[in-house]
Amino acid sequence: LCHTPHESKLCSTNQNHHQLIFSPSQPRSALETLNLDGYFSYQNTAHAARDFGNRFFFRPAAVLHPKSVPDIASTVKHVYEMGAGTVAARGHGHSLQGQAQADGGIVINMESLIRPRRGGGDGGGRYVDVSGGELWIDVLKETVKHGLTPKSWTDYLHLTVGGTLSNGGISGQAFRHGPQISNVQQLEVVTGKGEVVTCSEKQNAELFFSVLGGLGQFGIITRARISLEPAPNMVKWIRVLYSDFSQFSSDQEHLISLDESFDYIEGFVIINRTGLLNNWQSSFHPKDPVQASQFISDGKTLYCLEVAKYFSTQHDSNETVDMQIQGLLSNLHFIPSTLFISEVSYVGFLDRVHVAEMKLREQGLWEVPHPWLSLLIPGSKMAQFASEVFGSIVTDSSNGPILIYPLNQSKWNNIKKTSLVTPREDVIYHVSFLASAVPSSTGEDGLDYILARNQRILDFSSGAGIGLKQYLPHYTTQEDWKAHFGSKWEVFLKRKLTYDPLAILAPGHRIFKRQY
Ligand code: FAD
Repeated sequence: LCHTPHESKLCSTNQNHHQLIFSPSQPRSALETLNLDGYFSYQNTAHAARDFGNRFFFRPAAVLHPKSVPDIASTVKHVYEMGAGTVAARGHGHSLQGQAQADGGIVINMESLIRPRRGGGDGGGRYVDVSGGELWIDVLKETVKHGLTPKSWTDYLHLTVGGTLSNGGISGQAFRHGPQISNVQQLEVVTGKGEVVTCSEKQNAELFFSVLGGLGQFGIITRARISLEPAPNMVKWIRVLYSDFSQFSSDQEHLISLDESFDYIEGFVIINRTGLLNNWQSSFHPKDPVQASQFISDGKTLYCLEVAKYFSTQHDSNETVDMQIQGLLSNLHFIPSTLFISEVSYVGFLDRVHVAEMKLREQGLWEVPHPWLSLLIPGSKMAQFASEVFGSIVTDSSNGPILIYPLNQSKWNNIKKTSLVTPREDVIYHVSFLASAVPSSTGEDGLDYILARNQRILDFSSGAGIGLKQYLPHYTTQEDWKAHFGSKWEVFLKRKLTYDPLAILAPGHRIFKRQY
């Protein structure tokens, strides 16, 4: 690769990424010649220059509000043929570092592409066809009406199908079902040349696997066929605490290795918190209130195992579900007084982060900078990582949750063929530092402090040879991107040259530079 002048240009670093590619008047006259069902907006573009991270603000020249797939295809084709410009699909804009932005280019507001959802079933099992701009919460609400549900989720459902499939989509169900990209049967994609292509494992397979976890680099997902299973309607949601990391992680790994286990397995780290169990008691009930009241969390580093068992009130008796849970818990080594249980609806459980969002919004704490760091760590290095990171680099978890849970890649379908990059071991840990920064603070809750802390975590990991991979990756040089992709880089580059040879799509990742 990188042999021809064209290839080496695509390989070159992207230092000039921020140059204005469109002059504001140029797109308007040119774009207005397109015959669209939707429309372009040139004035109200500020929204498309923001995201959840609240740190990167690149304004596009125009925002397309498509009403049909041809709107998207003709816009991309036009940019491809006119020799300048970039295009970013924007899902719900919950990226962290401008990944769905297009500096001076065109942002496509995928949420305005509303298409009828269609369910069906064939040899590959039940499925639903949804638009790439659908929010997962809407997919959930629709499918449960038919007694069905997608299998694999993210912790937060107010994200679009196209947005999470461009990354991976990892949550507490992934240990069993794989990430969301392992649960897709077919895609409809608009490539960087403006072609509309249907792809699956059997049809245009190279494009299908490129797009899954592909950071929007190869095509815009306009429709996805998502695998479904029968939906439960209730969930027993359980939290227990550990003070010893090795017991916590060995119990987590034990649970993900079982054929009959919980349906959701996650966990989080608690550092230097007081009154922890008091906070839980608004939604969780202690199994033994007297013992629980004697437990003091003050200051200790604790590890919370969070698990859930799904059930259907029509098909499962409460006693049977309780016995299954009791059986699973009896083999674990948590602090007995810290067993907390809650019973909630299935939709309520999956949409749990939205409840937290509403509270934070009320307090004005949602639209603040979010210097998040998400990592995938090889299982064999997790103890070393935890000892240094939770022992000395991170001294407080009050800026936001720190998630930690293992996944077993050997159970994942076709993941190696996708563009997602993970460490090579079967068991890997998803560790996410989900910090919120207090605007203009210069203290430990400020943006600079948290970014410096994140860098210390990365520097330690690199020095200690942890071999981690960033999930939701963010790099500023192509050298770093090459290192991220490692042995997958050449395939990634070849796919780019095939499906988006002029590097029009998803410029916000700063992997490639637009070609003319
Ligand atoms: P956007 O931010 O709009 O876009 C993200 C990227 O995908 C951009 O590069 C964009 O160009 C591209 N893109 C968007 N739509 C399409 C499309 N239709 N076709 C092709 N490319 C497209 N992730 C997890 O895996 N697990 C979690 O549990 C999880 N929890 C989260 C909780 C919160 C509160 C937040 C803010 C994020 C969370 N994420 C999680 C990360 C999330 O999956 C990504 O940030 C995702 O990209 C957000 O989706 P979005 O629709 O907002 O995408």
